[in-house]
Amino acid sequence: MSAAPILQLTGVGRRYDEIGRELIILDEANFSLGRGEMVALVAPSGAGKSTLLHTAGLLERPDSGDVLLDGRSCGALSDDERTAIRRNDVGFVYQFHHLLPEFTALENVMMPQMIRGMSPSIASERAQQLLDYMKVGARASHRPSELSGGEQQRVAIARAVANAPLVLLADEPTGNLDPVTSSYVFEALEALVRQSGLSAMIATHNHELARRMDRRVTLKNGKIINL
Ligand code: ADP
Repeated sequence: MSAAPILQLTGVGRRYDEIGRELIILDEANFSLGRGEMVALVAPSGAGKSTLLHTAGLLERPDSGDVLLDGRSCGALSDDERTAIRRNDVGFVYQFHHLLPEFTALENVMMPQMIRGMSPSIASERAQQLLDYMKVGARASHRPSELSGGEQQRVAIARAVANAPLVLLADEPTGNLDPVTSSYVFEALEALVRQSGLSAMIATHNHELARRMDRRVTLKNGKIINL
């Protein structure tokens, strides 16, 4: 195993051209996520949290600089190569669950594994284990519309880690939930990350949840700085 950080941003720039002005979100930003580390990204709305997570997770290309996953430079890779890495090595959780409505919870968690070429029986077994771990195993045969908001997010988290990614990136994963549900879902997410040795970067407005992570960072003048 290499000693390099699992995720690195080096000199990353990201700007949007708005009519009449340029919006600089990341300006030669640097960041390292250690193996097994859980980092909270805390910044006001519009500061660029989603942009940072999308860039780190290879959904968006930086205008300059590089993103390294497990020591591998992803800047010069083709779109197809980036998509393959994203599918296998990056797990995303969003504020809204984005589960496929016509499929059951189990099928939603099986899906990324099947896309990767796993057999249905193995994918199904792992999906059930993950749902059990997230305490929604009994809801496996239900469609998303039949689940509560907290249950939907638990399924979305199970889906995000279905392919045992290197990194989990979460964009306000409990932002749509009431405080009590949010706390329970976050606890399950935290236990899963800790138990599996995953590395995670989690954007949250919830300072109490942020305090429970190993480290807190924010965005200031286009830089990623420790809080
Ligand atoms: P956050 O997640 O912290 O709310 P975002 O990363 O979504 O912030 O957005 C940061 C800023 O960049 C916002 O001002 C937003 O309006 C702007 N922005 C985001 N995406 C685009 C885009 N595709 N084109 C132009 N501006 C964008």
